[in-house]
Amino acid sequence: MTVDPPTAAPDTGSLSHARSLVLVHTGDGKGKSTAAMGVALRALARGWRVLVVQFVKSGDWRAGEQEMLQRLGADWLAVGDGFSWDSGDLEASAGLAREAWNSAEAALAGGTHDVVVLDEVTYPMTWGWIDTDTVVAAIVGRDDRVSVVATGRDAPSGLVDVAHTVTEMRNVKHAFDAGILAKRGIDY
Ligand code: ATP
Ligand code: MG
Repeated sequence: MTVDPPTAAPDTGSLSHARSLVLVHTGDGKGKSTAAMGVALRALARGWRVLVVQFVKSGDWRAGEQEMLQRLGADWLAVGDGFSWDSGDLEASAGLAREAWNSAEAALAGGTHDVVVLDEVTYPMTWGWIDTDTVVAAIVGRDDRVSVVATGRDAPSGLVDVAHTVTEMRNVKHAFDAGILAKRGIDY
């Protein structure tokens, strides 16, 4: 079955501009961080200042996006020390996540960056390592020039409530389930 393509332009007459936006990428499908890095790329193209804070991945993981976005001028902070199941010391991991949050919080309040990506921020929230209400309050109270992209599965409802745009990546299928390892250049 086919349908006719739209012929009328959407009516944008009553729409307004926002100074900044809050985006959340959640769900169990692939693409949450990839899409956040895509936003960072767009922001950099406009000459905007971008900060990426990675709450779970380690600095020495050095995903491809870190390599390229830093080359393009993004500031990067990845004080997480890998996946929690690899960590011998969860208390130390929690401390590192809190350190990352302190830096993110300062950027949100200080307006030092036009876009702040809080990558995998939902996990330390879910695990009780950083307080959800504190994160939500910092986003709501941010310098209003700062746009925020938060990623991670199971986004808390408080975070969803204050976001302008929330996308749930749904896992239809993933190579991993067919026994295929994460692929350099595609997955990281
Ligand atoms: P990506 O970084 O590829 O955009 P993501 O941010 O949506 O993925 P995360 O939960 O942060 O997903 O996991 C990161 C890693 O896990 C990536 O290597 C990704 O391919 C893989 N991954 C994502 N979703 C799934 C899934 N449903 N099953 C197995 N592995 C997944
Ligand atoms: Mg991710």
